[in-house]
Amino acid sequence: MSAPATLDSRGHLTAAGLATLAAAPMGRAPAELAAHVASCALCQERVLAGSVEPAGVRRERRQPPPAWRLWVTLAAILLALISMLTLMQRIR
Ligand SMILES: [Zn+2]
Repeated sequence: MSAPATLDSRGHLTAAGLATLAAAPMGRAPAELAAHVASCALCQERVLAGSVEPAGVRRERRQPPPAWRLWVTLAAILLALISMLTLMQRIR
């Protein structure tokens, strides 16, 4: 491999490895790195701490809440409102 070493001699992620992971799009990280982070609590903490992450990358990785959740919430509110109004009409 010609890429910079992403794992150190103990098999943990190096700074380059963390940077590679941080720069990779969600779910497209190198399998070798993703597999190690999945099984290593120490490296999980380092990735979550994001100390190596450049400032711009973090925003890219955060995904906005899905639009369907908003519509489901609105629909639920509307349904509750309608059932409340019909209930009030029946009481009269
Ligand atoms: Zn590790």
